[in-house]
Amino acid sequence: MALLPTRASLFMLHGRGKFSPRFCWPSRVPCSFYSQASREENSDYDLVIVGGGIVGAATAYKIANLPRSNPLKICVVEKEKSLAMHQTGRNSGVIHSGIYYKPGSLKAKLCVEGLDLMYDFCQKHGIPTQKVGKLIVAVTDEEIPGLEKLYESGTQNKVRDLEMIDAKGIKEREPHCQGVKALLSPHTGIVDYALVTQAMAQNVKDKNGDVLLNFEVNGFHSGGEDRLVITAKDGRKVHCKGAIVCAGLQSDRLAVLSHCKSTPKIVPFRGDYLRLKPAKRHLVRGNIYPVPDPRFPFLGVHFTPRPDGDLWLGPTAVLSFAREGYGIYDISLKDTWEMLTFPGLLKLGSRYMKFGLGEMYRNFYWPAQVKQLQRYIPEITVDDVERAHAGNRAQAIGSDGDLVDDFIIDTAEDELGSKIVHVRNAPSPAATSSLAIANFIVDTVKDKFKFL
Ligand SMILES: Cc1cc2nc3c(=O)[nH]c(=O)nc-3n(C[C@H](O)[C@H](O)[C@H](O)COP(=O)(O)OP(=O)(O)OC[C@H]3O[C@@H](n4cnc5c(N)ncnc54)[C@H](O)[C@@H]3O)c2cc1C
Repeated sequence: MALLPTRASLFMLHGRGKFSPRFCWPSRVPCSFYSQASREENSDYDLVIVGGGIVGAATAYKIANLPRSNPLKICVVEKEKSLAMHQTGRNSGVIHSGIYYKPGSLKAKLCVEGLDLMYDFCQKHGIPTQKVGKLIVAVTDEEIPGLEKLYESGTQNKVRDLEMIDAKGIKEREPHCQGVKALLSPHTGIVDYALVTQAMAQNVKDKNGDVLLNFEVNGFHSGGEDRLVITAKDGRKVHCKGAIVCAGLQSDRLAVLSHCKSTPKIVPFRGDYLRLKPAKRHLVRGNIYPVPDPRFPFLGVHFTPRPDGDLWLGPTAVLSFAREGYGIYDISLKDTWEMLTFPGLLKLGSRYMKFGLGEMYRNFYWPAQVKQLQRYIPEITVDDVERAHAGNRAQAIGSDGDLVDDFIIDTAEDELGSKIVHVRNAPSPAATSSLAIANFIVDTVKDKFKFL
């Protein structure tokens, strides 16, 4: 509540159909979905969801399936040519169990609920998941207290079947991994979240909703009592009674468009992954994670199997100079200028300079990253890995330089604001938690949107 006390009201959120996908690069989402099947001529809706990542798609899915006598007309608008092109399609694909998060926090609650909802959804919609489990490994005795803290928080968060195992237990599960103790989370899994997003959107379409692609929202305008007009960069318009904005890396910019405060601001942190070459794929069976440094919001470089049989190593966490640029040298002058003139980032930078420089070094000089990985799997060499994918995390930062850790819903208090709700911060594990977040969003906005 304290973040945006003046003009905007802010809530800290604490609190079937099977398809056979045909895959296409880059989003691994079925190409067939992107035929312009949407009925763009029908631009009048009850509710518009802005953003076709997993949070927007899950929210649309949840609302499209609310039991009602007169179904709502829903539309998802997405600026890209496909859904899930940003965080959702570029993450580790882990279904997290809820170990790390502060007991009692909304993040913890929604992750634990979200895991079950995600497995259920995937089963119902024919999306493959694998419960490959996860080991958080202490390599030295000094790391054991951190591991025990995680066991405590996981237990308080009601994560099921957590178990502390010793060096022998580690070898039984991961014969090539070394460590003195590990926390085993057997229900942690993997999935392709782009496919999940696709299935959610397909269900919305099946319920008579629309999905408009290449629709880059550039304005919100009041259309009179109970009406809102949303405009796109190319001149298209949709009309509705209310909108929920789930714009990930652009969430602060869209919030400002409807008169919310400019902070918290999104600062992108790129995560680069390496890939283990197929000949060495046998070295790792499930997820292997380090004991994270509690001072940082990122979980550390880890080993993660992919549903397609690949094995990813990463992600790093370095400041990105382009919110939606995924190459090492991608720079957006607009994004960089905004970051460098944001006092919050300068304050954050002065606090974490050493960590940041270390991450940058490992990011550019990958033998240094391999050295970190060898702490867990000593057999891995530089020749066994190659550069893979990258994803940018939308990290919300307050003007005081603090990293915003929990989910945030924000809404301006003027007439326009009464029709728009912004999800301003949906950090990891928001893909895992997406269906639980959607439930929370619906419960939160019900008072505001009487038509729901
Ligand atoms: C490297 C990395 C690893 C991660 N690993 C995991 C993991 O293993 N498990 C997990 O649970 N979570 C993970 N996460 C976190 C998770 O991916 C995100 O929390 C989640 O995907 C956020 O979803 P979203 O829908 O809010 O954002 P996004 O997926 O970024 O979607 C936002 C959408 O809004 C659209 N948009 C933006 N502006 C506009 C506009 N003006 N008009 C129309 N559309 C617009 C964008 O194009 C985009 O499609 C990871 C994230 C990263 C980056």
